Amino acid sequence: MSSLTKKDCFIEGHWVPTDKRFSVTNPATGEVLAEVADADEELTQRAINVAETALKSWRKKTARERALLLRKWYEAMMENKQALGELMSAEQGKPVAEAVGEVEYGASFVDWFAGEAERIDGDILPNTDSSKRVMVTKEPVGVCAAITPWNFPNAMITRKIAPALAAGCTIVVKPPQLTPLSSLALAQLASEVGIPDGVINIIPTSDAKSVGKRLATSPTVRKLSFTGSTGVGKILMQQCAEHITKLSLELGGNAPFIVFDDADIEQAAEQLIACKFRNGGQTCVSANRILVQQSIAEKFTDAVVSKVKALKVGPGTEDNVDLGPLIDQDAVDKIQRLVLSAKSDGATIETGGSVMTELGDLFYAPTVLTGVTEEMDISEEEIFGPVVAINTFESEEEGIEKANNTPFGLASYFAAKDTARIFRVSEALEYGMVGVNTGGISHAYNPFGGIKESGLGREGSKYGIDEYLELKTVTLGGL
Ligand code: ADP
Repeated sequence: MSSLTKKDCFIEGHWVPTDKRFSVTNPATGEVLAEVADADEELTQRAINVAETALKSWRKKTARERALLLRKWYEAMMENKQALGELMSAEQGKPVAEAVGEVEYGASFVDWFAGEAERIDGDILPNTDSSKRVMVTKEPVGVCAAITPWNFPNAMITRKIAPALAAGCTIVVKPPQLTPLSSLALAQLASEVGIPDGVINIIPTSDAKSVGKRLATSPTVRKLSFTGSTGVGKILMQQCAEHITKLSLELGGNAPFIVFDDADIEQAAEQLIACKFRNGGQTCVSANRILVQQSIAEKFTDAVVSKVKALKVGPGTEDNVDLGPLIDQDAVDKIQRLVLSAKSDGATIETGGSVMTELGDLFYAPTVLTGVTEEMDISEEEIFGPVVAINTFESEEEGIEKANNTPFGLASYFAAKDTARIFRVSEALEYGMVGVNTGGISHAYNPFGGIKESGLGREGSKYGIDEYLELKTVTLGGL
């Protein structure tokens, strides 16, 4: 494991130290795991310049060469999945088994886009003039930048690097300050398998604002891919306006999970638990507003409460743990504020509702609230924690209306059996993704992304590579 614990910036294939450093801690214990190099604007510029130089030869590699290198990187990740999972669990808190699952998921994007690298083709268009021919080719966008969040320290990075490299782009990644170690370990493996120097550069920093601005406003960076909060996404969008830098944004969600009266209640409760408590509820596709049809609300709530009570909370290194600690004190404070304000506005805490101090300051008890209404803060904000907030509705129309009553549009879920209803509701939901009778919607094959204030563009799938490609129209005359 220690050979994968890297602490410096990764630029042009070298580990670059800095005088100033910041601490990365284990959220379960508070222990300092590493003092990590702290990139500033100057180092950011150096990484951009290096990526520009590396682009010249990387884009000229054949699709096959790029694919084979990506596949080797994928294999290296899979061979090291246990060590990568343990490192991730230490810096992020999720149970080791879940972290290993994320490594497999993250690696699957590298495998998938290795395949996609060999399927970037073009078109010959119909003739409009017998002396002309028109062809459309696809070219790499150029130097890319990625800014990623702490909740998926591996997969959010591979989901951006893999399509960029497959398309022939080079990249500078600013990983999250709280969890940079997983990204540095990935860089080490990329270097070991022979991905050329300068193609991937990683610059951890405690100054996201300045480094992010340099990435977004550099005329050399032609594409920025960001996953994080809507607030920061809006700032980056404004900054990208300076040079019309292409932009992909995976932002916040406020996912509804609707349970209709024809649903299989037991199965719906199971899927809700899987969706809600993955990563301790700290995912942008977590079910946030649980909307249950009044006639089955009591039965559904009972099923959920008994399953929530059975969840095991503890440090990620312990066996059979379902939930680890939350990421930091701010996360705990936010969740506590949302739960207490819901309670004072009339909601009932059915189970949980407090910090599990016997385990540590960052462990929050899995919680179920009933009597939640649309006006409460907990319905309007992304909870990002292990809290099931149950609201009810009478008719199908009301359920859909409540579900769509948000500026966000990332993931949505519903449980129902009637086929006509399944089509009606799927079509009526204003979201980029809809899970029907399932809380699991993410896969490298599937386009991931949102509408409205949840973002721009799609990651993964056969569509994801387009975000890193430009079309070029070549018109040949005088034929
Ligand atoms: P979260 O609440 O999930 O941490 P953020 O949007 O704050 O979401 O963070 C996501 C990523 O954006 C992190 O890598 C963070 O360092 C970075 N970030 C935060 N503020 C800015 C900013 N002003 N400009 C660029 N990146 C930023």
